[in-house]
Amino acid sequence: MSARRDFDVLIAGGGMVGAALAALLASGAATRALRVALVEPQAALPPQPSEPLELRVSALSRAGERLLLAVGAWPLLAPRQPCPYERMIVWDEASPAAGAETLVFDAAEAGEPNLGHIAENRAVAAALIERALALGVTLLRSPVVGLELNPDAAHVALGGRTVTAGLAVAADGAESPLRALAGVAGEGRPYPQEAIVTHLATELPHGHAARQRFLATGPLGLLPLADGRVSIVWSTSPAEAGRLVALDAAAFGAAVTAASDGVLGALTVTAPRARFPLKRFNASTYVATRLVLVGDAAHTVHPLAGQGVNQGFLDVLALAAELGRAVAAGEDPGDARPLGRYARARRADNALMGAALDGIFRAFTDERAVVRTGRRLALRLVNRAQPLKRLLIDRALGVP
Ligand SMILES: Cc1cc2nc3c(=O)[nH]c(=O)nc-3n(C[C@H](O)[C@H](O)[C@H](O)COP(=O)(O)OP(=O)(O)OC[C@H]3O[C@@H](n4cnc5c(N)ncnc54)[C@H](O)[C@@H]3O)c2cc1C
Repeated sequence: MSARRDFDVLIAGGGMVGAALAALLASGAATRALRVALVEPQAALPPQPSEPLELRVSALSRAGERLLLAVGAWPLLAPRQPCPYERMIVWDEASPAAGAETLVFDAAEAGEPNLGHIAENRAVAAALIERALALGVTLLRSPVVGLELNPDAAHVALGGRTVTAGLAVAADGAESPLRALAGVAGEGRPYPQEAIVTHLATELPHGHAARQRFLATGPLGLLPLADGRVSIVWSTSPAEAGRLVALDAAAFGAAVTAASDGVLGALTVTAPRARFPLKRFNASTYVATRLVLVGDAAHTVHPLAGQGVNQGFLDVLALAAELGRAVAAGEDPGDARPLGRYARARRADNALMGAALDGIFRAFTDERAVVRTGRRLALRLVNRAQPLKRLLIDRALGVP
């Protein structure tokens, strides 16, 4: 903490992850004295009651909910009605939805009321920004356009001026300009897939279950919404995604009904359709001189298990804890030691999650007979192996 610098911590990117870090630092007993800036050119505004549900929603784990509760952001989401999901149902295209090879993870098995909530990304980011500002964070509505990292400070160029900070945090998303400016590389690989996202009305009640059907062409996720509809994330080849998005509404509804094996009856499109390219990425390091990476800036994964922002929230909890420890011990929070402890705590876990999701993606899109038989056996086994199932439920709840 030095008065010679404009800020102690400058967070670039006010998406869900960066905004959560800002609010958590500003509310933590050890870190609330830090001068924190959040740099975001397009700060999210809370959706108005008359606005339709946003296309981008995320399955937030219980750990994410606890983080939002801790900073006072959770109650702000109430008008947009996050939808609790009480079970996850996962099955393979080759098996019936109600068969012995269908995995069912039930919150009740873990003694929890639910496994998490489906919430709008924009509402979550807006609630976190609102809390961060109320807790004293400075919002700079500008993009980061330049960066110089020195042993004494990070010099961050914004539109027309440069500010200094003891620590710069890259929370600026998968294409992270800060990461590029700092010269941090990584291993990245695009999936041969795009995700189609939209909301549909269902003929049968969704029963507060999140469903995932693994098709040979890619997974179809159906997430429950509070108004009774479902939000889909349908991953498939770019050519097929293009074809599906170009269908008229009735034909698209029929295609999703068939792809979901009719488990929710006939599905009717009620929102525009959007496509997102998918890639896996792991930064080669999470730390440089007076710089640290969190969220999608550090790692991106396939959305098939709804883990991306939840991994980012775990980064936020770990980083805030290390910065708090450093401040309490009289250390400089931008020093290599607390940042190194954070990186050690998070890199392996994020890499493991990325690899696991990659493995699941490959296993379920491999149509060789031996792989098909293997995964049916594996699904049966997981269903019967209570300790393994409990481990997977813990992961879904966000226990690292
Ligand atoms: C189809 C799909 C479905 C998904 N579903 C789920 C799910 O169910 N559950 C889940 O956990 N995850 C899910 N994810 C992943 C999740 O969306 C991401 O992990 C999450 O949004 C990352 O948040 P972030 O704050 O790190 O990055 P972002 O949301 O990308 O935010 C980055 C922010 O940085 C800002 N920014 C960019 N450049 C600059 C700059 N130069 N200066 C300052 N600011 C800048 C941007 O304006 C933006 O606000 C899904 C992803 C996809 C593609």
